[in-house]
Amino acid sequence: MDALIQSTTLLLGLNLSADQRRKVERYSEELVRWNRRANLTAITDPGEVATKHFLDSFSCWQALSAASPRRVIDIGTGAGFPGLALKILIPALEITLVEATGKKAEFCRHVVQTLDMRQVQVVHGRAEDVAHQPEHREQYDGSLARAVAELPTLAEYLLPFTRIGGLAVAQKGESGPSEAHAASEAMRLLGGTLRKMIPVELPGVAETRYLVVMEKVASTPERYPRRAGIPARRPLL
Ligand code: SAH
Repeated sequence: MDALIQSTTLLLGLNLSADQRRKVERYSEELVRWNRRANLTAITDPGEVATKHFLDSFSCWQALSAASPRRVIDIGTGAGFPGLALKILIPALEITLVEATGKKAEFCRHVVQTLDMRQVQVVHGRAEDVAHQPEHREQYDGSLARAVAELPTLAEYLLPFTRIGGLAVAQKGESGPSEAHAASEAMRLLGGTLRKMIPVELPGVAETRYLVVMEKVASTPERYPRRAGIPARRPLL
């Protein structure tokens, strides 16, 4: 926990309050407890949970803060990363979590309740379907995803949710720069453009991570995202 507090200050210049620390601890406990019966994460060592889940989730604020966001959506949130962790860091955010697996969505709801979080909506569904619902389409200042799909697919998941002028942020590993290059046509078709790539170094993590930051510059054509499964099977290239 001390390392997480220090690293958060170093990386983002933000100091975690006692309340935020308690929330991270409680969330971590619930994650490990639920993981015994539901397969939520491969990472359960406390130090690794702190760095690879919480700090890594917090790091997307480096990119997202530029949008001064109020409403943020996290696609394929799994056990709540990065979206629900970010809600602890920036409590004023209104967060929507989208997750296709029922058990994981249920865990997220459990954490929201346990930590008494307000203005968090958990949607059990697929991005391809949810993105066509008017209450979600182009309604978000920021959209996020970590470890969900390759960038051309992710662009099709994220950009339809993002309002014009908002940011879509994909958390990527070493492959970030090459994936961003491969996704430039997909971004264009979806109304996005590559704004920048922010390298992130996490303590104890050897590989450089990248925040691939796309800006929404034009409305996404109604035909995107395509039917569930198609963006992953036949990525726009
Ligand atoms: N973002 C989390 C989980 C990554 S695993 C983390 O970094 O820890 C990828 C998750 O995305 C899985 O839980 C899977 O169910 C979900 N997912 C994959 N495709 C999806 C889609 N099209 N719509 C919604 N969720 C999706």
